[in-house]
Amino acid sequence: MSDTLLPDRSDTAVFEPKTALPAPLRADGRRELIGLSREQLAAELAELGAPAFRARQLWQWIYVRGVTSFEGMTDLSKDFRAKLAARFVIGRPEITRQQQSIDGTQKWLLRFADGQEAECVHIPEEDRGTLCVSSQVGCTLSCKFCHTGTQKLVRNLTPSEIVSQIMLCRDAFGEWPAGEGDSRKLTNIVLMGMGEPLFNYDNVAQAMRIALDPAGLALSRRKITLSTSGVVPMIRRCGEELRLALAISLHAVTDELRDVLVPLNRKYPIAELMAACRDYPGLSNARRITFEYVMLKGVNDSPAEAKQLLKLLSGIPSKVNLIPFNPWPGSPYECSDEATIDKFAAILMRAGYVAPVRTPRGRDIMAACGQLKSDSERVRKSKTLAVPAPTGS
Ligand code: SAH
Ligand code: SF4
Repeated sequence: MSDTLLPDRSDTAVFEPKTALPAPLRADGRRELIGLSREQLAAELAELGAPAFRARQLWQWIYVRGVTSFEGMTDLSKDFRAKLAARFVIGRPEITRQQQSIDGTQKWLLRFADGQEAECVHIPEEDRGTLCVSSQVGCTLSCKFCHTGTQKLVRNLTPSEIVSQIMLCRDAFGEWPAGEGDSRKLTNIVLMGMGEPLFNYDNVAQAMRIALDPAGLALSRRKITLSTSGVVPMIRRCGEELRLALAISLHAVTDELRDVLVPLNRKYPIAELMAACRDYPGLSNARRITFEYVMLKGVNDSPAEAKQLLKLLSGIPSKVNLIPFNPWPGSPYECSDEATIDKFAAILMRAGYVAPVRTPRGRDIMAACGQLKSDSERVRKSKTLAVPAPTGS
């Protein structure tokens, strides 16, 4: 990977999160309501002369009932509904492709208002259903083993675009009204789709506050996991403000190797990352950090590295997720063989760590960890070719 893709220390723009902004006005002059904070929604309605309780009613309709039109809001006057419809929309991203794996995993390619695309994935399991949510289109970080990292085209997703992935999944499974329940297909969220969530912190935070709102989508903090490649300065703030479960993409036990695999390590080396983990607010045996470790054949999978990993984790309430490498076209690595992975896991388990080997899900539709890529450029190009040029009138 070229160094120019990696922001240097003076490039603070990338590292200083900007305040989350409401979704921009659409071409038709209306504003998207999904993704506005409660306060922003109340302010928008106040401009129409509506009292504060109207914002609470709307919030319920949108996030508890999942309605997508003002027509269905039967406790609002016809007049007020018409006013709302003239100014606002409650939309969903367009689904441009939907694929289902033989193991039941589903992947949606979503197109947003400006034509940019990102993927999200639903993984059904016996005791839960997890939605893997994207936070950016592509990723600036170029980890060597990750398909998303090869996609140059990048922008941050807005709070609206992040929350919409959850809304859309509830739509797909008919799981409105929102709430908890064992039989639900959507119970957990992992911020492990495209992008580095801590490089888009403010938008991710606003979206997660909406997801957690007890009078709305009502997801539980324990069931939302944010995965980061190690944006050290943001880890503490994220822990204090959101108190989500944290996962760290570690993947190597020496700076020499991690510099290559996860180039962000050159900026925030392992010692700094582990110190930030030790300081993670609320850390306890009941709230452990998950360390993700992708198994790359002959690269990071030796018994000596497993032992070194134990040393790094010492004193941090943690568990390890061993992820068999998921290949993608042109990927430079191979997955470690099963016996090697088992040996690595056994060393961790003998030392008392929970160290499950993650079962790859949705590999056949390129929906497994690190396989996501929206190919927006290519898709757009082929669409442009397919659309006949306007003839003029
Ligand atoms: N950017 C964040 C979250 C998205 S990546 C991060 O890096 O943590 C989600 C997880 O998938 C990370 O642990 C990442 O390292 C892992 N991953 C990426 N490419 C992979 C691949 N090809 N095979 C297996 N896991 C991969
Ligand atoms: Fe980005 Fe995460 Fe992929 Fe690295 S592993 S390129 S941080 S999405």
